[in-house]
Amino acid sequence: MAQETSRAVGPVVLLGPPGAGKGTQAKRIMERYGIPQVSTGDLLRENVALGTELGQAAKAVMARGELVSDDLVCTMVRERLIQPDCKRGYILDGFPRTAAQAGWLDALLEAELFDNSRPTRAWPIVVRLDVDYNQLLLRITGRRSCPTCGRIYNVHLQPPRVDELCDEAHATKLVTRNDDRLEVIQPRLVAYEEQTRPVADYYQRTGRLISVNGDLPMDEVTALIFRILEDHHA
Ligand code: AMP
Repeated sequence: MAQETSRAVGPVVLLGPPGAGKGTQAKRIMERYGIPQVSTGDLLRENVALGTELGQAAKAVMARGELVSDDLVCTMVRERLIQPDCKRGYILDGFPRTAAQAGWLDALLEAELFDNSRPTRAWPIVVRLDVDYNQLLLRITGRRSCPTCGRIYNVHLQPPRVDELCDEAHATKLVTRNDDRLEVIQPRLVAYEEQTRPVADYYQRTGRLISVNGDLPMDEVTALIFRILEDHHA
């Protein structure tokens, strides 16, 4: 895939319910534009695995499929966004997830608009992936990832060549996320409907929401997102 790593892309927000394909598309944007994927879910899971204070506070909440507090998540995001690799832009995957987080992000970006040392000074490009409910369930229940290289598979839709083993990372055994279990999926989808849908409504009202049909084949979704990013900078 051709790379476009010379110019500033700015913040990109990927919205959509669990299983919509945000992580997969974020990785593709990252490869093409050379800007990092900032996944709050991944950052939280890393903290849980490392047993940090944040991880200890988040662990039980995540296991129930509920949202971690805005304060904890925003602090974590702020620390990540000041890293030098975010200078040309970044892809927010799974953030903002509440109206309060969206307001916090706007305040942060507004402050940056007046900071000449930040080349990413811009409002985010907000892309929402819309996916049919039954398709979501299939994607979430089939999701497996490689703990070594992070590649994501789906045992129903994009299975690995050998059952449950990564194609790339020396046949590492694939794992299922703790919160992809059936009993946790429902509360996660409820959290999305109740707390995250207002975020999309907010971006819609401010004229920044671009919806993409996430039911299309993965490559077509990627092509649509690349076109949105190109048009935005044309
Ligand atoms: P994800 O990998 O995006 O599905 O996130 C997994 C879990 O991490 C969610 O179910 C929440 O418990 C937590 N989480 C991730 N991002 C956020 C966020 N922006 N705000 C609150 N909790 C979050």
